[in-house]
Amino acid sequence: MTLKLEGKTAIVTGGSGGLGSAFSLALAGAGANVGVAFIGNPAPAQDLVAQIQALGVKSSALEADITDPAAVKAMFARADTELGIVDILVNNAGIDGVRARAWEVDAAKWRKTLEVNLFGAFHCAQEALSRMVIKKSGVVINISSVHEVIPWGGYSAYTASKAGLGMLTKTLAQEAAEFGVRVLALAPGAIQTPINQSVWSDPNGLTDLNKKIPMGRMGQPVEIGNVLVNLASDDSSYLTGTTVFVDGGMTLYADFSHGG
Ligand code: NAD
Repeated sequence: MTLKLEGKTAIVTGGSGGLGSAFSLALAGAGANVGVAFIGNPAPAQDLVAQIQALGVKSSALEADITDPAAVKAMFARADTELGIVDILVNNAGIDGVRARAWEVDAAKWRKTLEVNLFGAFHCAQEALSRMVIKKSGVVINISSVHEVIPWGGYSAYTASKAGLGMLTKTLAQEAAEFGVRVLALAPGAIQTPINQSVWSDPNGLTDLNKKIPMGRMGQPVEIGNVLVNLASDDSSYLTGTTVFVDGGMTLYADFSHGG
């Protein structure tokens, strides 16, 4: 089997969470050294690091609140020493925020969602790109969402942050292209992780959600991880500045499947 990412170094923010752990494992399975970035309890990140090291690649648990530029800078410096200069950044950390209509939401909570999903991704991209443009290679993959394009009542901060991430992706891709660096967004649909457990653990919620997906089911993290490895590898060497939707057809307007 060819290891598409052998010798590369990846950093995954929120790397021990639902999708994050699938991304970390998929990248390591393809031969990359993986920095598992986390915030809070170190135990899940440390357990994952041990699993990744057992695959024969380097891995470190890297603590940083991505909303803090100084902490992000320190995290990348630590990764330089322990894992090598970053080749692949996966900006995966994100929060849904509180559910509330715009005129009822607490503005500080609205701002927090933007700080994590958009500013956090930007701080990490700044650190990664400053290294990649010198090396003249590298890939930044921003984990967006179908809510980059589908409005979602009650979650205006989330949708604004993901739409912003889509345009950030295009602009960074334009800036970095002449340096041989690619920037992409990967937009999952509904994937079964802790972020949406309240929906899939409720049978009525799950039935309602499945109706919104032409394929009729939620995705599994591994189904996104497999795509991520391809986007990060030279198999996608001519792909930059676009959002790749991996959503079982959710952006195809399921209600129009049988006319309308
Ligand atoms: P999750 O809640 O399991 O993981 C989110 C991770 O982000 C956690 O590990 C959390 O600790 C980390 N995080 C939050 N705030 C942070 C901060 N300030 N600094 C550093 N890390 C922080 O959720 P998930 O489903 O795995 O989501 C991962 C990404 O995928 C998110 O960006 C989310 O918006 C996106 N996404 C998920 C779905 C889905 O259906 N699960 C769909 C579309 C997009």
